[in-house]
Amino acid sequence: MNDPRALPGEPLTLDLVNTEFAPDGTLVDLLATAESARSWAAAAGLTGTLDEASLAALRQTRSAVRDALEGRGTVPLNAVLDKARVRLTVSDTLVPARTLQADEPASQSAVLAAESLLELLENGAGPSEICENPDCVLWFFDTTRNGTRRWCSMAVCGNRMKARRHGERKGAATSAGRRPGDSTGRPRTARVAHERLARMSRRQRAGGVP
Ligand SMILES: [Zn+2]
Repeated sequence: MNDPRALPGEPLTLDLVNTEFAPDGTLVDLLATAESARSWAAAAGLTGTLDEASLAALRQTRSAVRDALEGRGTVPLNAVLDKARVRLTVSDTLVPARTLQADEPASQSAVLAAESLLELLENGAGPSEICENPDCVLWFFDTTRNGTRRWCSMAVCGNRMKARRHGERKGAATSAGRRPGDSTGRPRTARVAHERLARMSRRQRAGGVP
């Protein structure tokens, strides 16, 4: 089966956030239909059936995780986590197990995705980042030693941004497109995926060309 994800290889929680992406400025939502959601879930390693209720829970969790990552509060995320409990068991051969279980089966995938964020935080992982391309809404988990990853993909956004900056240096673009840099000269990435998404969906509703 084809992997529909824009950025495979990220932790489950970012995989969920990245079900909304914008190749070439056009919004794609992998959770828009049950069919596309199922192929995303399979690629992301989620098992279990995906009915309308679990799809709704996933959409809600996607927005909750994005709110948390982008500094708009954690009340929605904690509401999702509130549906989870840890089930403690031990087998006859004395193998202990702790499994995460949602109150309702429909919330199981959503709860796993929310817990994946907690796992990242518990492991002392640095903050997840959004791609520096202002037209990209993908989040990634920076595993480079110095935290220097800037783009979802060097091949796509990295090269695009380098070409753009090269053009700016040559005076082909106005300074309006530039963003202020921090003391290291690295542009500060605003956590604005929701603004980028809103801008794109407005543009699409208006029928405008990106
Ligand atoms: Zn990108």
